[in-house]
Amino acid sequence: MTWPEVRTAATQNRIIIIPVAAIEQHGYHLPVDMDNRGCFHVCAEAAKRRPDLFLNTPLLPYGFNEHNMEFPGTVSIRMQVFMDYVFDVARSYTRMGFRRILIINGHGSNQMLVNLVARRVVNETSALAMGLPYWTLSSESFNQELRESASPGGTAHACEYETSIYLALEPDAVDMSKAVMEMAPPWSKWIWTDLTAGSSDVHFVDNYSRYNTSGVEGDPTPATAEKGKKILEWTINNLIELGEDFSHIAIKPRRSQQHQPETDFDAHANASP
Ligand SMILES: [Zn+2]
Repeated sequence: MTWPEVRTAATQNRIIIIPVAAIEQHGYHLPVDMDNRGCFHVCAEAAKRRPDLFLNTPLLPYGFNEHNMEFPGTVSIRMQVFMDYVFDVARSYTRMGFRRILIINGHGSNQMLVNLVARRVVNETSALAMGLPYWTLSSESFNQELRESASPGGTAHACEYETSIYLALEPDAVDMSKAVMEMAPPWSKWIWTDLTAGSSDVHFVDNYSRYNTSGVEGDPTPATAEKGKKILEWTINNLIELGEDFSHIAIKPRRSQQHQPETDFDAHANASP
């Protein structure tokens, strides 16, 4: 798009999609760009199918990854820098006049930070913003129809779910002969991680190298390209459904009940620190 085309798009109530992911080790069998590939594919494909609803923007390829820095190929952005960067990108779109921002995340450790960025956009601009991991859009169908790995824990990282996606997108880059199962230690029934089985509310992410050798957490061995194709279709279709719902949420004026309200919200939000 040229800048006049972007200006026109901002008048069309289209949802800005900001894809964010990571460069991170994914075991012996998957390339380090797994999260970027899966995340960007579903965002780009949804926007291609529904240009009236979405405007996809360039992928932000690096994420928060400190727990995996003992593995070569992993890049980590400090959490505050990451949050400021994603916020500044979102804020730039709100300054163009876009009022709906969807931050689609492809990397587990980004999620808590993405959530805070979405909150900050709502708090500090007149736009609405949401953050989600893309796998939440296909979790239910995957668990019910495809899943073979143990639950919870079998689908955590470089697992059946992620490997199936890569096999669907670029099978020649995946070496299934090197795929190994490695489960997280049974720390407690209260502590577990799984992409698609919901998640324990006990937040605990130890440094991977303390307990993990391969870089896999879960079981990639039942992954297939056919599963990946189904996962991607579910995800894209449900992303469109979410977008439709989002586009119908009214952006109402704030109504202060304060004795002496601040008068100009936008001017306040735009003020330099
Ligand atoms: Zn991943």
